[in-house]
Amino acid sequence: MTGWVVPRPDIRRYRVAVLTVLVALSIALWPEVLGPLARAYIRLCAFVPQRLPASLHHHPPYVVATILLAVATLAALSGFLLLRQIVRQRHLTAALTPRQSLPEGHVGLAAAAGVDGRLVIVDDRAVYAFCAGLLSPRIYLSQGLIGMLEPSELAAVLHHEATHLRQYDPLRLFLSDLLESLTAPFPVLRALTARYRIRIELAADQAALAVVPLEVLASALLKVARARPAPEYAMAVAGLTPSEARIAALAGRPVTVPLSRQDLLVTSLVALSLLAVLVDLAGLPILNVPVCHTCPPF
Ligand SMILES: [Zn+2]
Repeated sequence: MTGWVVPRPDIRRYRVAVLTVLVALSIALWPEVLGPLARAYIRLCAFVPQRLPASLHHHPPYVVATILLAVATLAALSGFLLLRQIVRQRHLTAALTPRQSLPEGHVGLAAAAGVDGRLVIVDDRAVYAFCAGLLSPRIYLSQGLIGMLEPSELAAVLHHEATHLRQYDPLRLFLSDLLESLTAPFPVLRALTARYRIRIELAADQAALAVVPLEVLASALLKVARARPAPEYAMAVAGLTPSEARIAALAGRPVTVPLSRQDLLVTSLVALSLLAVLVDLAGLPILNVPVCHTCPPF
């Protein structure tokens, strides 16, 4: 076995890339849509040159306007995704009915994993364990999972999730998802975020393996894999998911997420199109505005 592949050939993967190129071409064809922003930049140069650091002068105004538009779009998207994450997380935790504590026979496992006070036992027959919460993460364990695992397997799960908790993995996963969304026009970068997510999971397994034997962790993982599926998690939840990568790593097989040639080609085409549009915009004259004395004439 030489590993496994995350990206699958799916044309929908490239819809953001296609949309980005279409928007860039539209701006190249009708740059006047950015006229107000471009003229605002020239006015800023002309009237308040001292307010603008020297490095921000001398730039082609339509290029500056395009970059401003891109930055504003990315900032709005980041705000939306953060808000959506907070709402999803609230819905997720509100939908779970917490129990008081771990049942008899398992008391002490939480303290041993260092998660006392950060553990929520959920009254649910479904099988799941995950860590959620961006700034104040908690571990959620379902009754279904607890009833199915031996104490040593439960300890393995708790140590795995304790690592997610200590490393603020839900926050790190959210930031990685955010980065993936913001860089969606460049699909080759998805392999990098996929590698990062796998690294987070494997690090949690390694931490568990420092405390429990490999067979115990593998057995817990397989039991979860065979159980009925857990409810749909919110994004950026670091869970005990039986992924191919973790099973491959436990079996000593190499875990790789290769870069897809198709992704690389699409990424190059998008980057070249954006560059061509920026070069085109850089050559545009801008009229009817007072020209800055610091900047060369446009
Ligand atoms: Zn995990």
